Amino acid sequence: MATFQGRHAVITGGGSGIGLAVAERLQAGGARLTLMGRRRERLEQARKRLSSGEVHLVQCDVTDADQVAGAFDAARAAAPVDILVNNAGAAEAAPFLKTSPELWRRMLDVNLTGAYLCTHAVLASMRTAEFGRIVNIASTAGIKGYAYVSAYVAAKHGLIGLTRALATELARTRVTVNAVCPGYTETDLIERSVAQITEKTGRSRAEVMEEFERANPQGRLTQPGEVAEAVAWLCTPESLGVTGQAIVIAGGEIMP
Ligand code: NAD
Repeated sequence: MATFQGRHAVITGGGSGIGLAVAERLQAGGARLTLMGRRRERLEQARKRLSSGEVHLVQCDVTDADQVAGAFDAARAAAPVDILVNNAGAAEAAPFLKTSPELWRRMLDVNLTGAYLCTHAVLASMRTAEFGRIVNIASTAGIKGYAYVSAYVAAKHGLIGLTRALATELARTRVTVNAVCPGYTETDLIERSVAQITEKTGRSRAEVMEEFERANPQGRLTQPGEVAEAVAWLCTPESLGVTGQAIVIAGGEIMP
């Protein structure tokens, strides 16, 4: 299990859900971790859940270029960054005509520009080190459309576009760039989406949850640990030949 011994992984939004599951999985493989997120207490709680390995916490809003630059300086002070998991994200719903410019910008900023800024901050040193693994947590919403989340869908499509373009640009280096695309996954994000839908439609929580489960051919929500397993594989030295891919973790849903 010591695949990641001596590697330093930065995980954005690492205080909860998929980010925390990725942290647990990479730490189990021996990685040194830096968790980045906006809320210090949440990061502290996450660190308590992780076992005794080296875990650094850096408070950072990934949409703020200055904060990102400072955060990666702090991370590099611990050790060069070998693995970057761009996981921070949010999903706000609204019909298109009620999607304000502010909502549109919030979704693009956190789900797309954040990944651009963090990648910008690590790429030069990964190239110099001749090793790097960048994994973007996109979504099935990065591959197909969903109603009432046009800004989120546009941002996640953009994130997959960034993944493919950068992987192509870096193909002759030892840095790979991939996206992982979960379907509905059991985290706080899905709880917030369910709450928003029940409030707006009057449908019960059970009904909405059942609809989410039905979207998955296996009839269940994806678990954060399943997403983490795919991320971990993409971070191994042996996955060098896999780059520019968008790997779907959605119980067999066939994507266009
Ligand atoms: P989550 O809400 O538990 O995790 C999102 C994390 O990102 C949180 O820790 C949050 O604090 C952090 N974050 C949000 N905005 C940030 C910012 N500006 N700067 C720094 N950190 C910020 O939910 P999750 O489901 O674990 O989401 C993780 C990723 O997975 C997101 O990118 C999300 O779009 C993606 N995803 C989730 C699902 C799902 O159904 N849960 C499905 C597909 C993709």
